[in-house]
Amino acid sequence: MKPYVALILVILLSACIKIKDKKPSPIVQGGSTPSLQQFRYTLSGKLSPSYSGIGRVGDNYIYAPNIRFPIENAPAYINSQVYGVGGLYGKAGSLCDRRNYQYPWHDNFCEKRDWGMPMCPSGKGHQGVDIRTATCDKKKYYAVAVESGRISYIGKYTVTLRGNSGRKYRYLHLDSNTLQVARGQTVRRGQRIGLVSDNMGKTKTSIHLHFDMKQTIVIDGVPKQVYVPLYSSMVDAYKRLLRGNP
Ligand SMILES: [Zn+2]
Repeated sequence: MKPYVALILVILLSACIKIKDKKPSPIVQGGSTPSLQQFRYTLSGKLSPSYSGIGRVGDNYIYAPNIRFPIENAPAYINSQVYGVGGLYGKAGSLCDRRNYQYPWHDNFCEKRDWGMPMCPSGKGHQGVDIRTATCDKKKYYAVAVESGRISYIGKYTVTLRGNSGRKYRYLHLDSNTLQVARGQTVRRGQRIGLVSDNMGKTKTSIHLHFDMKQTIVIDGVPKQVYVPLYSSMVDAYKRLLRGNP
Protein backbone atom coordinates (compact mmCIF):
# COMPACT_ATOMS: atom_id res chain seq x y z
CA MET A 1 0.00 0.00 0.00
CA LYS A 2 1.36 3.43 -0.97
CA PRO A 3 1.93 5.79 1.98
CA TYR A 4 -0.65 8.39 0.85
CA VAL A 5 -3.35 5.70 0.47
CA ALA A 6 -2.64 4.57 4.02
CA LEU A 7 -2.86 8.18 5.20
CA ILE A 8 -6.25 8.65 3.54
CA LEU A 9 -7.47 5.43 5.16
CA VAL A 10 -6.34 6.64 8.57
CA ILE A 11 -8.15 9.99 8.06
CA LEU A 12 -11.34 8.22 6.94
CA LEU A 13 -11.22 5.83 9.88
CA SER A 14 -10.70 8.61 12.43
CA ALA A 15 -13.62 10.51 10.84
CA CYS A 16 -15.80 7.42 11.31
CA ILE A 17 -14.81 7.22 14.97
CA LYS A 18 -15.62 10.89 15.45
CA ILE A 19 -19.05 10.42 13.87
CA LYS A 20 -19.68 7.46 16.17
CA ASP A 21 -18.77 9.62 19.17
CA LYS A 22 -21.42 12.14 18.15
CA LYS A 23 -24.23 9.67 18.76
CA PRO A 24 -26.37 10.78 21.71
CA SER A 25 -24.88 9.29 24.84
CA PRO A 26 -27.09 7.34 27.25
CA ILE A 27 -28.89 9.52 29.76
CA VAL A 28 -26.98 9.90 32.97
CA GLN A 29 -28.92 10.09 36.21
CA GLY A 30 -29.60 13.71 37.05
CA GLY A 31 -28.45 14.81 33.61
CA SER A 32 -30.55 15.93 30.69
CA THR A 33 -34.19 14.95 30.27
CA PRO A 34 -34.57 11.18 30.01
CA SER A 35 -36.62 9.71 27.23
CA LEU A 36 -40.12 8.31 27.46
CA GLN A 37 -38.76 4.97 26.25
CA GLN A 38 -36.61 4.67 29.38
CA PHE A 39 -39.47 5.33 31.80
CA ARG A 40 -40.57 2.26 33.77
CA TYR A 41 -43.34 2.01 36.35
CA THR A 42 -45.30 -0.69 38.07
CA LEU A 43 -49.07 -0.49 37.97
CA SER A 44 -51.30 1.55 40.24
CA GLY A 45 -52.03 -0.18 43.56
CA LYS A 46 -48.99 -2.44 43.43
CA LEU A 47 -46.96 -1.42 46.46
CA SER A 48 -43.29 -2.23 46.93
CA PRO A 49 -42.26 -3.98 49.08
CA SER A 50 -45.54 -5.89 49.27
CA TYR A 51 -45.67 -5.67 53.08
CA SER A 52 -45.72 -1.85 52.89
CA GLY A 53 -49.49 -1.93 52.48
CA ILE A 54 -52.41 -3.07 50.36
CA GLY A 55 -52.96 -0.90 47.34
CA ARG A 56 -55.99 -0.19 45.24
CA VAL A 57 -55.09 -2.69 42.55
CA GLY A 58 -56.92 -2.30 39.26
CA ASP A 59 -57.90 1.34 39.73
CA ASN A 60 -56.03 2.93 36.84
CA TYR A 61 -58.52 5.78 36.54
CA ILE A 62 -56.93 9.18 35.92
CA TYR A 63 -58.67 11.31 38.54
CA ALA A 64 -56.86 14.47 37.48
CA PRO A 65 -56.50 14.44 33.69
CA ASN A 66 -54.12 16.93 32.13
CA ILE A 67 -52.51 18.22 35.29
CA ARG A 68 -48.86 19.15 35.08
CA PHE A 69 -46.34 16.93 36.81
CA PRO A 70 -45.57 18.60 40.19
CA ILE A 71 -41.78 18.56 39.77
CA GLU A 72 -40.45 21.00 37.20
CA ASN A 73 -38.00 18.66 35.49
CA ALA A 74 -37.51 14.95 34.87
CA PRO A 75 -36.27 12.57 36.02
CA ALA A 76 -38.19 12.10 39.24
CA TYR A 77 -38.92 8.90 41.11
CA ILE A 78 -42.10 7.85 42.88
CA ASN A 79 -41.31 5.26 45.51
CA SER A 80 -41.51 4.64 49.25
CA GLN A 81 -39.55 6.82 51.67
CA VAL A 82 -40.39 4.62 54.66
CA TYR A 83 -39.74 1.23 53.07
CA GLY A 84 -37.04 2.34 50.63
CA VAL A 85 -33.30 2.07 51.30
CA GLY A 86 -32.43 4.07 54.42
CA GLY A 87 -36.09 4.45 55.38
CA LEU A 88 -37.53 3.61 58.81
CA TYR A 89 -38.61 0.12 57.71
CA GLY A 90 -36.37 -0.14 54.66
CA LYS A 91 -33.10 -1.85 53.88
CA ALA A 92 -30.06 -0.45 55.68
CA GLY A 93 -28.19 2.17 53.73
CA SER A 94 -28.16 5.78 52.77
CA LEU A 95 -31.31 7.66 51.79
CA CYS A 96 -29.24 8.79 48.83
CA ASP A 97 -28.68 5.19 47.74
CA ARG A 98 -28.79 4.75 43.99
CA ARG A 99 -31.67 2.24 44.34
CA ASN A 100 -33.92 5.07 45.54
CA TYR A 101 -33.14 7.04 42.40
CA GLN A 102 -34.09 4.69 39.63
CA TYR A 103 -37.07 3.33 37.75
CA PRO A 104 -39.45 1.62 38.04
CA TRP A 105 -41.84 3.84 39.94
CA HIS A 106 -43.94 2.28 42.68
CA ASP A 107 -47.32 3.50 43.87
CA ASN A 108 -47.42 4.35 47.59
CA PHE A 109 -50.82 6.04 47.96
CA CYS A 110 -52.14 3.30 50.28
CA GLU A 111 -48.85 2.72 52.09
CA LYS A 112 -49.37 1.92 55.79
CA ARG A 113 -50.16 5.02 57.84
CA ASP A 114 -52.76 5.92 60.45
CA TRP A 115 -54.73 8.31 58.24
CA GLY A 116 -58.32 7.31 57.56
CA MET A 117 -58.45 6.62 53.84
CA PRO A 118 -61.83 5.56 52.45
CA MET A 119 -60.29 4.69 49.08
CA CYS A 120 -57.65 2.31 50.44
CA PRO A 121 -58.59 -1.37 50.90
CA SER A 122 -57.54 -1.35 54.58
CA GLY A 123 -59.38 1.94 55.27
CA LYS A 124 -56.06 3.55 56.14
CA GLY A 125 -53.21 4.87 54.08
CA HIS A 126 -50.71 7.51 53.11
CA GLN A 127 -52.95 10.15 51.46
CA GLY A 128 -50.58 10.90 48.60
CA VAL A 129 -47.43 9.78 46.86
CA ASP A 130 -43.81 10.54 47.65
CA ILE A 131 -41.64 11.77 44.84
CA ARG A 132 -37.86 11.96 44.81
CA THR A 133 -36.13 14.49 42.58
CA ALA A 134 -33.44 13.68 39.99
CA THR A 135 -30.66 13.56 42.58
CA CYS A 136 -30.35 13.48 46.35
CA ASP A 137 -29.80 17.24 46.64
CA LYS A 138 -32.10 19.39 48.70
CA LYS A 139 -33.17 22.88 47.64
CA LYS A 140 -32.17 22.23 44.04
CA TYR A 141 -35.36 21.18 42.26
CA TYR A 142 -38.60 23.12 42.01
CA ALA A 143 -42.09 21.91 42.70
CA VAL A 144 -44.55 23.64 40.38
CA ALA A 145 -48.29 24.27 40.19
CA VAL A 146 -50.08 21.31 38.63
CA GLU A 147 -52.88 23.55 37.47
CA SER A 148 -53.78 27.22 37.67
CA GLY A 149 -55.43 28.30 40.88
CA ARG A 150 -54.83 30.01 44.17
CA ILE A 151 -52.53 29.27 47.10
CA SER A 152 -55.06 28.71 49.88
CA TYR A 153 -52.79 27.73 52.77
CA ILE A 154 -49.16 27.83 53.82
CA GLY A 155 -48.12 25.93 56.93
CA LYS A 156 -44.79 25.00 58.47
CA TYR A 157 -44.06 22.50 55.72
CA THR A 158 -47.26 22.44 53.72
CA VAL A 159 -48.44 24.50 50.77
CA THR A 160 -52.00 24.00 49.54
CA LEU A 161 -53.12 24.92 46.06
CA ARG A 162 -56.82 25.19 45.32
CA GLY A 163 -56.99 24.48 41.61
CA ASN A 164 -59.52 26.10 39.29
CA SER A 165 -60.96 22.61 38.80
CA GLY A 166 -61.96 22.56 42.49
CA ARG A 167 -59.33 20.01 43.40
CA LYS A 168 -57.09 20.70 46.37
CA TYR A 169 -53.42 19.80 46.09
CA ARG A 170 -50.90 19.66 48.90
CA TYR A 171 -47.15 20.04 48.56
CA LEU A 172 -45.21 18.92 51.64
CA HIS A 173 -41.58 19.30 52.71
CA LEU A 174 -40.65 22.30 50.55
CA ASP A 175 -38.01 24.64 51.92
CA SER A 176 -39.95 27.34 53.82
CA ASN A 177 -37.35 30.05 53.39
CA THR A 178 -37.34 29.99 49.62
CA LEU A 179 -41.06 29.62 48.82
CA GLN A 180 -41.97 31.37 45.59
CA VAL A 181 -45.61 31.94 46.56
CA ALA A 182 -47.62 33.63 49.28
CA ARG A 183 -51.00 32.75 50.76
CA GLY A 184 -53.85 34.07 48.61
CA GLN A 185 -51.68 34.40 45.53
CA THR A 186 -53.00 33.18 42.22
CA VAL A 187 -50.65 30.95 40.27
CA ARG A 188 -50.63 29.65 36.74
CA ARG A 189 -50.03 26.05 35.73
CA GLY A 190 -46.31 25.25 35.83
CA GLN A 191 -45.40 28.23 38.03
CA ARG A 192 -42.71 27.56 40.62
CA ILE A 193 -43.96 27.01 44.17
CA GLY A 194 -40.82 26.11 46.08
CA LEU A 195 -37.74 23.96 46.36
CA VAL A 196 -38.05 20.29 47.30
CA SER A 197 -36.34 19.66 50.63
CA ASP A 198 -36.53 17.54 53.80
CA ASN A 199 -38.52 20.03 55.85
CA MET A 200 -41.01 18.46 58.26
CA GLY A 201 -40.97 21.10 60.99
CA LYS A 202 -38.89 19.87 63.90
CA THR A 203 -38.79 16.31 62.55
CA LYS A 204 -36.48 15.46 59.69
CA THR A 205 -37.58 13.45 56.72
CA SER A 206 -35.95 12.34 53.50
CA ILE A 207 -35.54 14.76 50.60
CA HIS A 208 -38.77 14.37 48.69
CA LEU A 209 -42.03 15.96 47.73
CA HIS A 210 -45.12 14.47 49.33
CA PHE A 211 -47.91 15.34 46.93
CA ASP A 212 -51.60 14.60 47.35
CA MET A 213 -54.94 15.72 46.02
CA LYS A 214 -58.45 15.89 47.34
CA GLN A 215 -61.58 16.00 45.27
CA THR A 216 -65.26 15.29 45.65
CA ILE A 217 -66.30 11.88 44.45
CA VAL A 218 -69.38 9.79 45.05
CA ILE A 219 -68.78 6.80 47.33
CA ASP A 220 -71.76 4.46 47.80
CA GLY A 221 -74.07 7.19 46.53
CA VAL A 222 -72.72 9.84 48.90
CA PRO A 223 -70.53 12.71 47.61
CA LYS A 224 -67.40 12.96 49.73
CA GLN A 225 -64.28 15.06 49.56
CA VAL A 226 -61.46 12.57 49.89
CA TYR A 227 -57.84 12.01 49.00
CA VAL A 228 -58.02 10.29 45.67
CA PRO A 229 -55.57 7.77 44.21
CA LEU A 230 -53.25 9.93 42.14
CA TYR A 231 -50.58 7.54 40.93
CA SER A 232 -52.13 7.05 37.48
CA SER A 233 -52.54 10.80 37.09
CA MET A 234 -48.85 11.15 37.98
CA VAL A 235 -47.82 8.56 35.39
CA ASP A 236 -49.92 10.34 32.78
CA ALA A 237 -48.51 13.78 33.66
CA TYR A 238 -44.93 12.47 33.75
CA LYS A 239 -45.25 10.95 30.29
CA ARG A 240 -46.32 14.35 28.97
CA LEU A 241 -43.36 15.96 30.71
CA LEU A 242 -41.02 13.43 29.08
CA ARG A 243 -42.60 14.13 25.70
CA GLY A 244 -41.73 17.80 26.19
CA ASN A 245 -45.38 18.77 26.38
CA PRO A 246 -46.03 19.09 30.14
ZN1 LIG B 1 -45.75 11.13 51.91
